[in-house]
Amino acid sequence: MAKKSNKLVEKVTKPPGSNLKAIESNPWENVLTQVHNAAKVLDLDPNCLKILEKPSAILTTNFPVNMDDGSLEVYTGYRVQHNTARGPCKGGIRFSPEVNLDEVKALAAWMTYKTAVVNLPYGGAKGGVVVNPFQLSKSELKRLTRRFTYSILNMIGPERDIPAPDVNTNPEIMSWIMDTYSMIKGHTELGVVTGKPLEVGGSLGRLEATGRGVFVALEETLRQQNQQSCKDVSIAVQGFGNVGSNFAKIAYEHGGRIAAVSNSFGALYDSEGLDMLELVDYATNHPREELIEFPGVEVITNDELLKLDVDVLAPCALENQIRADNADDIQAKIIVEGANGPTTPTADEILAEKKIVVVPDILANAGGVIVSYFEWVQGQQHYFWNEKKVNATLKDILVKSYAEVNAMKKKYCLQELRTAAMALAVQRVTHAIKLRGIFP
Ligand code: GLU
Repeated sequence: MAKKSNKLVEKVTKPPGSNLKAIESNPWENVLTQVHNAAKVLDLDPNCLKILEKPSAILTTNFPVNMDDGSLEVYTGYRVQHNTARGPCKGGIRFSPEVNLDEVKALAAWMTYKTAVVNLPYGGAKGGVVVNPFQLSKSELKRLTRRFTYSILNMIGPERDIPAPDVNTNPEIMSWIMDTYSMIKGHTELGVVTGKPLEVGGSLGRLEATGRGVFVALEETLRQQNQQSCKDVSIAVQGFGNVGSNFAKIAYEHGGRIAAVSNSFGALYDSEGLDMLELVDYATNHPREELIEFPGVEVITNDELLKLDVDVLAPCALENQIRADNADDIQAKIIVEGANGPTTPTADEILAEKKIVVVPDILANAGGVIVSYFEWVQGQQHYFWNEKKVNATLKDILVKSYAEVNAMKKKYCLQELRTAAMALAVQRVTHAIKLRGIFP
């Protein structure tokens, strides 16, 4: 096992009165650190930095929902718009008991930088409701979604702020958001939300788009290391939701050896490689808690999965999975971030010292919002593309963006792709701010 990088750990344990876990586990603090790193590289105008340091609008809503048993519950939800310099805000809505304002602020900011790094004409936003959706009936979930949509109605709109799926939300929930907004406006408004089912203005390829993008990012990384395919490359995937399962399936179809997958209940491990077609089929027909009951495969913990001796690690679950306390034990040579914010800034330093290539979230998982953009364009034009065009255009954008991030890395002699991607994004956002000027 590699030597512990105590030097780096000490660096962040130093601030008086602070504790490492608390610093590391606040995603808003983490995104600010990333932006400050980029600002240093660019020698950024401090006035522009001031704008980026605060989200432009924050809505907190407490809203009532009638439950099936006749009782009433009051839920808390958020919509945060981080920046609109490059266009209408874009970003998903998550339903999770862990949702909190700092998390939603961070996720909104990452959307600003993600859309900028892949050059989409959007700003960044995110929403969330503090709820465990798995404890609700379908009709409760529908009432909660409709009431939350109503609560954020004045913030969203096709030219203003366009939500999409995120953790624990799906196309059906997006169709309820579209319907609620449309009922109140008096006409069907396809462009108010993306990630919708195909029958109501969704785009072919959107469901798999984030996972497909993570795969394209991995293929590009391998290509830059003179490896022409992912054949026999061993991969551990943390998270088996939309992103993780689609990434694992696509990588498997291209010859990758998926050594492990996990969800919040645990991980499945087979060094020879799991059969992803069987596993995806099993996961579709079983509740989440039964993933680890998939027959004939060793069960390990999520922590063990992160530390497996594999070529590639794909964290596709939540924030703060790779931290100061476990980064040194990571053995993968490449990390492709399917999740938003899975690696903390302290962990980034440790991984860089270990020469592990980290393909950052704002690039690696941008496939979802890229195809959301296609869906929005198709909805506005009422003209729908075939899947081949969607997938090919997604790949073109990601490959071009990756090259632009590499160019930034070279230009500023940077060690990490994250700082290069952030610098590119911050540069694009601040150029837009300067071009538009400050009103009034
Ligand atoms: N929730 C996804 C993300 O974090 C997709 C956002 C979108 O399509 O607007 O990138």
